[in-house]
Amino acid sequence: MDQRLYFKNVTIFDGAEFFRGSLTTDGARIARIVRGGEIPDGGTPTATGEAVLIMPGMVNFHTHVPMTLFKGVAEDLPLKDWLEKRIFPLEAKFISREMCRIAGQWGMAEMLLSGVTAFADMYFFEEDIAAAAKEIGIKAAIGEGVINFPAPNGMGPDETIAYTAQLAERYKDDPWVFPCCAPHSPYLTDEKYLLTLAEISKKYRIPLHIHMAETRHEQEAYRKQHGEREFERFDELGLLSDRFIAAHCVWVDGKEMDLMARRGVTVAHCPSSNLKLGSGIAPVAEMVRRGVNVAVATDGSASNNNLDVLKEAQLAAKVQKGIAHDPTVLPALDVLKMVTASPGRALGRSFGRLVEGGAADIVQVHLDTVGIAPVHDPAAALLYAFSPSAVAAVWVNGRQTVTEGKILTVDMAALKKELDRMSDAVRRSL
Ligand SMILES: [Zn+2]
Repeated sequence: MDQRLYFKNVTIFDGAEFFRGSLTTDGARIARIVRGGEIPDGGTPTATGEAVLIMPGMVNFHTHVPMTLFKGVAEDLPLKDWLEKRIFPLEAKFISREMCRIAGQWGMAEMLLSGVTAFADMYFFEEDIAAAAKEIGIKAAIGEGVINFPAPNGMGPDETIAYTAQLAERYKDDPWVFPCCAPHSPYLTDEKYLLTLAEISKKYRIPLHIHMAETRHEQEAYRKQHGEREFERFDELGLLSDRFIAAHCVWVDGKEMDLMARRGVTVAHCPSSNLKLGSGIAPVAEMVRRGVNVAVATDGSASNNNLDVLKEAQLAAKVQKGIAHDPTVLPALDVLKMVTASPGRALGRSFGRLVEGGAADIVQVHLDTVGIAPVHDPAAALLYAFSPSAVAAVWVNGRQTVTEGKILTVDMAALKKELDRMSDAVRRSL
């Protein structure tokens, strides 16, 4: 199943910069990278020439992948109504192990086909999501959502926290599954739960993944209750660290950004979701200027409605340039790092970089397609002219999962049938 790959004299983006060169793999790892030349004992080339681009598998840094089932069920609603009137009731009715496996795997296929090889998820029945991820061949950073009331998985917060610790133990050395602590948000997860999860995050050195400062409404309610804003309070509680993944951060000021930078927090910026739900626009250009590590993510399909993270990165760049009235903010190369090296920094070395000895998570892109050629600036070509149809192939841990728009690892027709059965039931209930 594992292949030895040899990319000979191709265009390489390694998560930091673009260069011409060659790369070989040895099973699940990258063996050698040579700049400006060939690798003499490389063997038969997998692909060759300047029109071949290889890059690290991208990371979708914040999603709820089974929500693929709920694409388009709650449009044109503010977050509070979106969540409380539509999503929570649907989730209460439809979330099951089977739903997480089927709708989850459907979403994973969409990610793989668009060059994503890892995602950070926050949902329920995450072990079923993990099993689906292993089967299709994508890396999953799983976080069982912790909320103050019994969740759709049938567990209360204390049970979910104990389960999170079990997951951390169980998947400690797994090359596909990376457990995280996943309190939902400051407003749905009490401080006592946050503190216990922070201890687990520290003990196992795993991320703590949470929604932060997504809407003004939620922030105002939090401030009324606690007398200060989320980041300030969280810092007093000692919750902020370089393992802290903060999804959204639409409503943060300069002082908070400096604090986030000091503590090494990584932001999961989800511009489509924030725009569609009318939550606002996160000041990410300013965050970057102040030294915050920013990654881009799609959020769940119910608020996006797709999982193509490079499209999201493109939107992030354009929106920031537009609101700043300044085209020089967020250059293409910096934005490409937001879906590769930057999320990798929060998750660890295996993610978002092509490095010798690192995981062979590789995306091969055709640069000579009608949509992309001619290529005068490879970073701009990738960020602004890419579409998933340009993905030639994807390997994760050296295992090939995609070739020319096709998933190689699971029977997609059978999966679609299962998805149809489920989405019919959702439609009938609306
Ligand atoms: Zn979310």
